[in-house]
Amino acid sequence: MRICRFTTGEDPMFGLVDGAGEKIAEISGDPLYTRIELTGQTFRVDEVRLLAPVIPRSKVVGIGRNYADHAAEMGSEVPEEPMMFLVPNTAVCGPDDPVVIPPVTDEVSYEAELAVVIGRMCKDVAAEQASTVIFGYTVANDVTARDLQRTDGQWARAKGMDTFCPLGPWIETDLDVGDLAVVSRVDGEVRQDGTTADLVHGIGALVEHVSASFTLLPGDVILTGTPAGVGLVEAGQRVEVEVEGIGAMSNPFVRADAGDPA
Ligand code: MG
Repeated sequence: MRICRFTTGEDPMFGLVDGAGEKIAEISGDPLYTRIELTGQTFRVDEVRLLAPVIPRSKVVGIGRNYADHAAEMGSEVPEEPMMFLVPNTAVCGPDDPVVIPPVTDEVSYEAELAVVIGRMCKDVAAEQASTVIFGYTVANDVTARDLQRTDGQWARAKGMDTFCPLGPWIETDLDVGDLAVVSRVDGEVRQDGTTADLVHGIGALVEHVSASFTLLPGDVILTGTPAGVGLVEAGQRVEVEVEGIGAMSNPFVRADAGDPA
């Protein structure tokens, strides 16, 4: 199933998206917590606004340097254990939402990633059991302020600022993630073209590692890392991120006016 969250201008709704990505069948309630029941109402994808398919209940757990080619392009080694960072849920935005570059950074990069959506509360999950706690998968852009990443040491600000974690366009619940293309495009030009086959630590290992430290709640998200090809993006450009078998999402990047708290 492909599960989206969307609005026609009123309260957010959830729906099932058809294979072509064109039609939505509305479902009642949040599928993370309630059985899926169709309401009978249908919409065209192009007549609604897709929202982030999930607002993480407690956290987004990011994984750094999980593709060897990306670690190499950053001049870094692949860490022996998955390297974790936390992104607050206030960083999450949805398809087409503007990513707002604040005045404190001059070096903002895109990072196309496969994102794991957790389906139930869990702790200490063995890698082989990971599929039992995974609700589905979506696409993330792990937007990063490289200058702050260097100077802060901690990545909280570099990766956690408002709008720095676009998620979408929907959650795919049935997906073999062993070898999926992970692609980003800036203004239509391909910048990253990797595959999940190159993940250093696979999905099961990540769920095991993350859940050994943190209780995971339904709707929590794990970002699985980005392949090589990252680069800077300027205000006025649009970044599309795509994972094969899920779909593509794009976001315009804009500059916050200096002094504008928004
Ligand atoms: Mg990343």
